[in-house]
Amino acid sequence: MASKKASDLKIARIDVYQVDLGYSGEVYRLSGGRELSSFDATIVRITTQTGIEGWGESTPFGSTYIAAHPLGIRAAIAELAPKLIGLDPRRTDRIDDVMDANLVGHESAKSALNVACWDIFGKSVGLPVCELLGGRTDAQMPIICSLSAGSPQEIGEELASFRSRGYTAFSVKIGGKDPAEDVERMKTALSGRKPGDFYTIDANGGMTVEGALRMLRLIPQDLDFVLEQPCGTWRECLALRRRTNVPIIFDELATNEASLIQIIRDDAAEGISMKIAKCGGLTKARRQRDLCVAAGYTIGVFDSAGSDIAFAAIVHLAQTVPERFLHCVFECREMSTGKTADGEYTHGGGRIRAPDAPGLGVTPRMDVLGEPVASYS
Ligand SMILES: [Mg+2]
Repeated sequence: MASKKASDLKIARIDVYQVDLGYSGEVYRLSGGRELSSFDATIVRITTQTGIEGWGESTPFGSTYIAAHPLGIRAAIAELAPKLIGLDPRRTDRIDDVMDANLVGHESAKSALNVACWDIFGKSVGLPVCELLGGRTDAQMPIICSLSAGSPQEIGEELASFRSRGYTAFSVKIGGKDPAEDVERMKTALSGRKPGDFYTIDANGGMTVEGALRMLRLIPQDLDFVLEQPCGTWRECLALRRRTNVPIIFDELATNEASLIQIIRDDAAEGISMKIAKCGGLTKARRQRDLCVAAGYTIGVFDSAGSDIAFAAIVHLAQTVPERFLHCVFECREMSTGKTADGEYTHGGGRIRAPDAPGLGVTPRMDVLGEPVASYS
């Protein structure tokens, strides 16, 4: 358990805000007929007894993506927040110990609280979070966008729009239902591929092994992509793995450290799409980063969804991944409307670098956040 002794910085108050973020398009489509048209963001502010404020966000990708949903996140924070009052927010591993001792799982809720502690840590010592997570690399990091599983024509138009804005990394969702249709999506998406572009074809666990094998047989051999989370279960993914030489990365089945170790042990993939909310925050995401580097795995750094505060956390973590292992940083803000914070996070060429401001380097827009929906002190 965390010690409350010998600490001059303490968590005095935790406020919880709720913001409705619209989807930036009409309907976002995932495999299995899943559709999303908005996102329900939970944002937390942790305030120390000295007045330092730390911010964190957890915005799930709807309620059918992983085992997380908006109301559950706020309910879990209600369980956790009172337990953190009086603790030193800079002891981020100990903060996680207390959260894990009081609530099993619910990493998406823990994530917002953990990230807010890192923000305070950075502000308390005048350093950006990436420096505390191991130190920044020199990388100008490629930003990845996410494309809904629309018709091939819709995918082509959306891709052209992202390309015109400098993007070189693309996560293309497929439907997982009709192998021939998904191959058309892939051919359209990859038709304008330029040297150095990165494509992940993301089935979000929606394919059967049979469907995936049929799709892979129909694909022209010269398409360069990785296949992300083809099937929904471990057995299916391993069965597919034995029958193909296509590079595979895990996402929905790569959640906690134990699952990542299992993936490495089973040689089930070449890398992961890491999401800070899946991990439970930056402390555990940092550990997953280190496991991936030790295993020689590539990493895309994401969060499930979210606005400016979530994006800041993504950028800081990604800035600490050795460049040759880092695929991309996810621009979650492209998916939603609604700006929750300001900071030096603008980019114009499909690449970004973490800002030098202390902490996450974000200033929340209090007019957008409104009044807290819950407060703990
Ligand atoms: Mg994915």
